[in-house]
Amino acid sequence: MIPRFRIAVLPGDGIGPEVMAPALALLHRAAERVGLALATEEHQAGAACWRETGEALPKATMQACRTADAILLAAMGDPAIRYPDGTEIAPQLDLRFELGLYAGIRPVRVIPGVKTPLADPRASGIDLVILRESTEGLFWSRGRGEVRNDAEARDTLVITRATTARLADFAFRLARARRDRGGKNLVTCVDKANVFTSFAFFRRVFDERAAAHPDVRAAHHYVDAMALDLVRRPWAFDVIVTENMFGDILSDLGAALMGGMGYAPSADVGDAHAVFQPCHGSAPDIAGRGVANPTAMILSGAMLLEWLGERHSEPRAVRAGSLLRRAVDAAFAGGRLVTPEHGGTAGTRTVAEAIGAALAALDPGEAARP
Ligand code: ATP
Repeated sequence: MIPRFRIAVLPGDGIGPEVMAPALALLHRAAERVGLALATEEHQAGAACWRETGEALPKATMQACRTADAILLAAMGDPAIRYPDGTEIAPQLDLRFELGLYAGIRPVRVIPGVKTPLADPRASGIDLVILRESTEGLFWSRGRGEVRNDAEARDTLVITRATTARLADFAFRLARARRDRGGKNLVTCVDKANVFTSFAFFRRVFDERAAAHPDVRAAHHYVDAMALDLVRRPWAFDVIVTENMFGDILSDLGAALMGGMGYAPSADVGDAHAVFQPCHGSAPDIAGRGVANPTAMILSGAMLLEWLGERHSEPRAVRAGSLLRRAVDAAFAGGRLVTPEHGGTAGTRTVAEAIGAALAALDPGEAARP
């Protein structure tokens, strides 16, 4: 029987629906090529939804996310639509907390043919993953911060042993899996353990877990030095594991290394659920113009297929994900597709069509090889 995975689809706001439509079409085509069926169903959530219904993440959408095999999300929020306290509507953060998606996976890989801002020839070999804790850290304070007498404001950063240990174990397993595909077998813990008790604790728990994974190399970096080295020698890193806020900042730096927000995919993974979405936001500055780069969204779809395949021991899903990624690489190879971020004219449709053509030309059997 053909397995049929159910995917909850949340197109969201701004450029979200613009990049979701071509990504979904390509996801179905990649799945079809390996004999897999996907049942995708769209649901409402986001800033426009809040304005229309009073709910940013309606109960029906949350329920659909809970029961789906995976969740594909584009982008949510609109700086022009805010909660009364001035904060932006970000139901993607609620999903992370509600579903316990503690491992934020932010791959930083330069697609051959896409311009990276670094002139060093080694930059084409950048291939690392930032693992951002996604349910606590400084983001624990979201909705809990306080302003006292209009004279002082406080937010609290929380690090727990349970989440840090789970995240560290996740990082070591990820490095091991990457090692089998030629990775550097290295996990770097990024913190500010020289100043804060919370980060000294983060590091201590990381070190305890490192001892349980002696076959993988473990290293430490302070976050400020990491920012420096991500520009100076990013090719030296493999898996970087860090707190929520540090990961938020470093992953945008990583997106810049890849050529911009339009190229950076991501996944937020827990023990039972996972959300796949591009790193970028709803980009209201370019919405409605047909220029949004759909690559990050498409690569997030490839991550979804691979995750489903590994979780359900379904090699065809892994193959479909790898096929989609290879189609992206083939479309950009030789620098023939230049997006507006880099001064080119390849808008949403052109990029999606080029990836579609590359997908049609690929041999799906070959995708099985690493
Ligand atoms: P959020 O806080 O919701 O993550 P943000 O403030 O980080 O959002 P983005 O919406 O990601 O902002 O946009 C940052 C910049 O990147 C903007 O100039 C935007 O136009 C650009 N950008 C974002 N996504 C894309 C894309 N897919 N293609 C091209 N440019 C993009």
